[in-house]
Amino acid sequence: MKVHTSIIDLKGDLNKFLFKKQKIGFVPTMGALHSGHISLVEKSKSENHCTIVSIFVNPFQFNNPSDLEKYPRNPEKDFAMLEKAEVDFVFSPEVSEIYPDKNVETYDFGDLANVMEGEFRPGHFDGVAAVVRRFFSIVEPTNAYFGEKDFQQLAIIKKMVNDYSIPVNIVACPIIREKDGLAMSSRNMRLSEEERKSAKEIFKIVSEAKNNMNSFEVKELERFVVNQINQIPYLKTEYFQIVDSETLQPIDSLNDAKSITACLAVFAGDIRLIDSIKFK
Ligand code: AMP
Repeated sequence: MKVHTSIIDLKGDLNKFLFKKQKIGFVPTMGALHSGHISLVEKSKSENHCTIVSIFVNPFQFNNPSDLEKYPRNPEKDFAMLEKAEVDFVFSPEVSEIYPDKNVETYDFGDLANVMEGEFRPGHFDGVAAVVRRFFSIVEPTNAYFGEKDFQQLAIIKKMVNDYSIPVNIVACPIIREKDGLAMSSRNMRLSEEERKSAKEIFKIVSEAKNNMNSFEVKELERFVVNQINQIPYLKTEYFQIVDSETLQPIDSLNDAKSITACLAVFAGDIRLIDSIKFK
């Protein structure tokens, strides 16, 4: 496994694969890796000639400076995990390598970006699109792997690739959960013992709503989940929305869309957790 911090050095290695028309698999991450990330790596390894993982905490996608400052960073442990997973290349650049002039463009992803994360984290998806677009132009991957945990991010990336005719295949990967159901996340390691205990209730409550989805109206299900979550110590729901999986717009009835997903953001203490669960 080779670790690169400069674009030129990385391209030097990747060009050999591009020249031979071999498939490059790309897994973008912000580090503090866990088994969720590794599942993306394994998928990439099974489908490409080489796999590259980026570790880059992208300052432009954080709307809260303290969240950026406290974002967990553990490069040595990350490198060890990636070495064990037999990744070919790691790209771990400085911020100035990716944003030489500190100017970041904005995007218009329409209604997709105006709900949920887009509503509660203004500018977040501009930052995500800016960094992923730069990485795509550096790495020129054949396939790029994204987790369904960041359900809206996945939709935005697909739209960006479509809008800008970027020649990459976006591969959606299922959410990896802890044994008790909590979606794995780098932010989980910042939870106190009590917050962690409470956080496991989120998946249980949403699963209960899913199991009873045919007996209630969508709005009743949403109210049920929010009320239940907010009764658990340390938990406060920012949003819980049952949406059309394609458009991400709220629905009135389960018959309104072919595929339906419940998405949420919940604070456990100061830590903001997101999750999504497919209803149908
Ligand atoms: P992050 O480092 O949090 O930006 O995540 C990097 C990639 O890993 C994103 O595509 C995430 O959706 C994905 N990811 C994070 N957590 C999980 C998980 N628990 N299961 C599957 N994919 C995940």
